[in-house]
Amino acid sequence: MISWPQQLFINGEWTGSQSGRTWSVTNPANGKLLTEVALADASDVDRAVQAARNAFDRGEWPRMDPLLRGRLLYKLAEKIRENLEDLAMTDTLNVGKPIRDTRGFDIPCAADLFESYAGLPDKIAGKCFGTLPDNMTLQIREPLGVIAAIVPWNFPLTNAAIKLAPLLACGNTVVLKPSEVSPLSALMLAKLAHEVGFPPGVINVIHGTGAEAGAALVGHRGVDKITFTGRHQTGAQMLEAAKTGMKGVMLELGGKTPSIVFPDAPLENVVNGVITGIFYNLGQVCVAGSRLLVHESQHDDMMERILAKVKNLRQGDPTDPNIQLGCLATPAHCETVRRCVAQAEQEGARCVLTGKRPTDASDCFYPPTVFDHVTPGMTVAREEVFGPVLSVMTYRDEAEAIRIANDSEFGLMANIWTTDGARALRVARQVKAGRIAINGGGVLRANVPVYGYKLSGIGAELGFEEAVHEYCASKAVLYSFSTEKSPWPE
Ligand code: NAD
Repeated sequence: MISWPQQLFINGEWTGSQSGRTWSVTNPANGKLLTEVALADASDVDRAVQAARNAFDRGEWPRMDPLLRGRLLYKLAEKIRENLEDLAMTDTLNVGKPIRDTRGFDIPCAADLFESYAGLPDKIAGKCFGTLPDNMTLQIREPLGVIAAIVPWNFPLTNAAIKLAPLLACGNTVVLKPSEVSPLSALMLAKLAHEVGFPPGVINVIHGTGAEAGAALVGHRGVDKITFTGRHQTGAQMLEAAKTGMKGVMLELGGKTPSIVFPDAPLENVVNGVITGIFYNLGQVCVAGSRLLVHESQHDDMMERILAKVKNLRQGDPTDPNIQLGCLATPAHCETVRRCVAQAEQEGARCVLTGKRPTDASDCFYPPTVFDHVTPGMTVAREEVFGPVLSVMTYRDEAEAIRIANDSEFGLMANIWTTDGARALRVARQVKAGRIAINGGGVLRANVPVYGYKLSGIGAELGFEEAVHEYCASKAVLYSFSTEKSPWPE
């Protein structure tokens, strides 16, 4: 039995919400209550921001020897690994992700991110400009301040680590607001950080709804920058709120990833890649390959292979290590996916596969669904479903494939499948997306910055130079060592 924190973590202490309100965290796989967690409102947000502010303005963290800062990040990585089983089971129970994924990807990835960024603090450097013989200008990089980090529920701990590892390495303090749906692993992370010796106020975790705690956090005057991952509609609200406080904003938003398959690609590899791309985590992935673009000559062969494999995917109890598909994170999200599917049918897309819900399963077990004969103008080809729904389209030549791929408001990622190297790079240059995976190469690493084109975001996630750019202030020090007096106002 895992013992989950039930309070907010502010200034190195566990505390209830001022209002005394709590929120029921449930397991979407069976609808049962997991635990109750304190629910923050604006007054709790204010306490958390004050704590982060104090730790930044007066505390040791931003002034600490960078090597020691890195050491604490490394200790946190190790602590996450020691607690892998509990953290993995927590995210599995909380959002219905298969345990093989939380064990095999989510939690190890979170630990790796803290380990990677543990090496950054003592490498942060500015520049020196020798403009004239008697003066010198220095660009100094300093920690930026208090960062508000707001993340969604699809990879609960990993999303938190993607934000926290770089911003902490840069010497900032943080108020983290996980999704109200999935607060447990973020609160456990706060506990682990406390155990390894992070000073009070450096990491604060508040649990609350977006409309209440989230809005209060982005509007708070004590916050210097907002770093957000979530829907583009919510991102737009962040920009509005940030305007009044002139805060920096970094937004990682949604996507509508096209997978372009050229006829020379080995179909067996492609089929596995396409299925993983859209059905992994039941499509609740920002880069989910939801639009499959297949050459018209290969359409029938491809469909046959995809359908044969998808029918054999094992969906069931997320805690069973043998299953590949769990359930969607909430009944409300399930309803959204259902609406998208109904609309696709109304607009004329042909549903060629919709699997069966496992018997005795909760409503959240949405089956893999495949739509054929989708056209680029249909809603299912344009809007992010964030569920296990694949839209298949055909193209006649390379130019048309690129045109369809780019016919989207999003530009987060694209997949290209071909063995022709020149074509791979030619198409990669023309597709408008911040991340291009060729032949399935698309592993998330700390050293690779990712940007979103169009509605998919503003600023870079991950990377080292980019982390410094996002999470450090830049100060120009203009130093004259001339002995002559200024010619003006003589
Ligand atoms: P969401 O935008 O509804 O919520 C994300 C977070 O914002 C939650 O913590 C929520 O409580 C908070 N929030 C909501 N309204 C707010 C407000 N008015 N003010 C402040 N905070 C508010 O997104 P979601 O449904 O939880 O997550 C799914 C979305 O996340 C998808 O669009 C997906 O593509 C995107 N996503 C993007 C990436 C990426 O790296 N680009 C990664 C994962 C998920």
